[in-house]
Amino acid sequence: MAAIAASVEFMEDADTICAISTPAGEGGIGIVRVSGKKAHPIVQSIFKPKNKKENFRPLPRTLYLGYIFNPNDNRGIDEVFAVFMNAPHTYTCEDIAEIHTHGGYAAQKNVLSIILDCGARLAEPGEFTRRAFLNGRIDLMQAESVLDIIHSETDEELRYALKYLQGGLSKKIQEFQEKLRDALVGVEALIDFPEEDIDIHSDEVLVPLQKVKSNIKKLVDSYYEGRGIRQGFEVLITGRTNVGKSSLLNALLLKERAIVTTIPGTTRDLIEDMIYLKGLKVKIIDTAGIREPGNVVEEEGIKRVKEKISEADLILWLLDGSQPYSKDDEEVRHTIGRRNYLTVINKIDLPQLFERDSIPAKSPEWIEISALKDQGLDLLKERIYSRLSGRGRKNNALLVTNKRHRDALVRVVSNIEQALLLKEKGEPMEFIAFELHEGLNHLAELSGETCSEEILNDIFSRFCIGK
Ligand code: GDP
Repeated sequence: MAAIAASVEFMEDADTICAISTPAGEGGIGIVRVSGKKAHPIVQSIFKPKNKKENFRPLPRTLYLGYIFNPNDNRGIDEVFAVFMNAPHTYTCEDIAEIHTHGGYAAQKNVLSIILDCGARLAEPGEFTRRAFLNGRIDLMQAESVLDIIHSETDEELRYALKYLQGGLSKKIQEFQEKLRDALVGVEALIDFPEEDIDIHSDEVLVPLQKVKSNIKKLVDSYYEGRGIRQGFEVLITGRTNVGKSSLLNALLLKERAIVTTIPGTTRDLIEDMIYLKGLKVKIIDTAGIREPGNVVEEEGIKRVKEKISEADLILWLLDGSQPYSKDDEEVRHTIGRRNYLTVINKIDLPQLFERDSIPAKSPEWIEISALKDQGLDLLKERIYSRLSGRGRKNNALLVTNKRHRDALVRVVSNIEQALLLKEKGEPMEFIAFELHEGLNHLAELSGETCSEEILNDIFSRFCIGK
């Protein structure tokens, strides 16, 4: 906490910043935000409330209707709402004033420029949130979640980002810190005093770390799904030529994106697009048919398919219900290998020559569809969703969605493992203490308690100016 406390002192001298917080362009309203010691005096000096006497003393958190005027020539700029919020109960923990102008470039720009003339300075990207962090209102993970909320495209992304902002991961990290600190205190006591002189046994000191390690590992493992929620899961449609891959892609995307043709080998490259399944971002990718290469272009396409198969989160192995199971189908199945896949039989609207018994015993379950006649697609979407979401996780479990967090947690796990190994080998307690110190440092980097200026700059530069 030392770093944050120090920064509060620093922030007391911080200058007053201002920015337009709403997106550029025309809209219903635009919000100009001012934060810092001079926020209230500046805005009061350019705001004339309607129906209020000369000595206007605004109540905090109350919207006042009035006008912004230019103090140099008394010219009215816009009819606005103004609201004043007192430190420390604000977004930045500083005094904040907000002016709600009419949406539109001129109104916001003029209000902003008058505030700048009055002595505020233009905020840097993410500076309001950075102040909230430096003033100790939120930790670094929560600050990052603000950005995630802004960037959320799906309900799932938003849900997890909000969980972070509400301190879900922060609480977990604090628990880990406490456990590691307890272990370190024990280890240091053993360094200072021989075991016989105190009531601590070296065998017991590190025992709780086993549980901590497995809890952190669970979080690390959740990153696979967390990343999927942020970036989208990849679903690859594969199958021999002409089974209906492009038709299925079209049916799933509900638009003519891939070229559908009866000539084998037309889909020479990967074609992909995003769909949203119950708030889950899913990238559907169509592949060229996997078969013996006929020419160089197709050969290249086939190579990429094989690469994609190893990367995809789920593979749809498409079969043609109107044709008998063939050697080509078998080859595709072979290429899929042990990846996560769903067997899908297409063209069920045609007379069926495909013997269901010929499906390999390893794929006992299949879904029957007609991409052309839109049959079975809802069930297919349902199955895709359930395969991708909540793989082994309880519905409300916490997920790590950010690579920085995952990487730090991986380092903590390695420190704990190392500490336990050293203990097992009977190495000196000083070495164990070192690993625990390192683990605590990595946890402190996560919360931002000890974080380099470089990391902070990198995080906050991704914000827009008014946030
Ligand atoms: P791809 O080579 O696997 O991408 O196959 P296409 O999507 O290009 O389809 C090959 C042919 O099968 C086209 O003539 C499609 O219209 C046809 N087709 C695809 N799905 C169905 C289906 O569900 N029913 C019927 N009757 N024909 C289909």
